[in-house]
Amino acid sequence: MPHIITSLCLRDGACLDVCPSEAIVPGFPIAEWPWYFIDQDSCIDCGACVTECPLEAIFEEDEVPDAYEMSAGQGRAIFGQITVENGELVPTKYEGGEVVDLTPDIQVNYDFFEKGPGHDAAP
Ligand code: SF4
Repeated sequence: MPHIITSLCLRDGACLDVCPSEAIVPGFPIAEWPWYFIDQDSCIDCGACVTECPLEAIFEEDEVPDAYEMSAGQGRAIFGQITVENGELVPTKYEGGEVVDLTPDIQVNYDFFEKGPGHDAAP
C-alpha cells in the first residue's frame, strides 16, 4: 500500500535519510508546497519513513486518518497558513484537541507528481 506524507509534515527531513529508494521530495516553492511528498512509483513501501518521522506525519494510504486530533503546540503546514521567515517555515500553531481531516492530502500527493509543483490544486 503506498505511503503518503500528510500536512502534519513540517519538513523535518528525517525521512529523507532513511528512504532507501529516494522516493521523498520536498515541494517547491516552499510557501506553496510546505511539506514533502512521496513518489508512488519509487516507493517500495518499506515503512522506514513512518517510524523515523518525529511528527508522525506519514501513513499508509489506507490508514490516513480522516479524524486526527492534534496535540498541543503541534504545527500543521497547510497552504495559506504558514509564512516563510529567513527561509524557515513558520506554521500556525494549534492549541491541541483540534480535529483535522488529513484524507485530502492523499490527492495532493498524487497531484504533485502528476501535475508538478505550482499547479492550482491548493485547498
Ligand atoms: S515507505 Fe520506504 S520507500 Fe516508501 S517513502 Fe517511506 S522510506 Fe521511502
